[in-house]
Amino acid sequence: MRMRKLPWAKSYIEESKIVEKDPGNNKGKWNEKLNADSLHLEIGAGKGDYWIGMSSMYMDEGWIAVEKNINVAAIAVRKFHHLTNPNLHMSFIQSDAEHLEEWFSDGEIDVIHLNFSDPWPKKRAHKKRLSHANFLKTYRRILKEDGSLQMKTDNSDLFEFSLLQFQEANWYLHSISVDYRREEHSEDTITEYEAKFMEKGQPIYRAEFKKHPYVNPDAKKR
Ligand code: SAH
Repeated sequence: MRMRKLPWAKSYIEESKIVEKDPGNNKGKWNEKLNADSLHLEIGAGKGDYWIGMSSMYMDEGWIAVEKNINVAAIAVRKFHHLTNPNLHMSFIQSDAEHLEEWFSDGEIDVIHLNFSDPWPKKRAHKKRLSHANFLKTYRRILKEDGSLQMKTDNSDLFEFSLLQFQEANWYLHSISVDYRREEHSEDTITEYEAKFMEKGQPIYRAEFKKHPYVNPDAKKR
């Protein structure tokens, strides 16, 4: 699904106040900058349906979207500017996730979201997958101690690959579904890609990983 070039995209992105011109300036200061206690980071936000939908549902939380493609990014940002009652703790970064460590300091993010990430089917391209071990190292760094990562995909190969990558990096599998939309999930927004796959009747895979196993603080020590 290639996006055509939009002649207005570049200047629109440059002029938008929601788009970070120099995200590194906020490193270590995102809570303050967005005036939010908890921070969500969506990587590969596409045309922004999830970023917009989730931020509108969770109005007190901070929502940062990263998208490298300037044309889809411009559409996402335009959706934000058309909102009548936007969440006041939002930000957009139009760049490549390979720079995450330049923008976020250790333990700054509460939840990372990956939705319908590019599957990169060829083996030699696997390192570009957003759930590749190299990205996982960065995610572990920028997430808080009790931080988590949620992913959704239609692609069983990418899903299997991701489960193994997280497993090898000692993440804890917190929840998993191989048919997430079998049940209603009003707490979650359906993304643009997700809607397309649902229309075709394809199952949606979803998993949530935590950096560390959950320890019940009330559990009695023996
Ligand atoms: N999340 C959206 C779009 C899925 S398509 C949805 O579910 O509808 C995957 C998106 O990830 C594309 O827009 C692509 O440009 C973006 N992407 C892929 N690799 C990226 C990277 N390294 N950094 C930032 N964005 C990336």
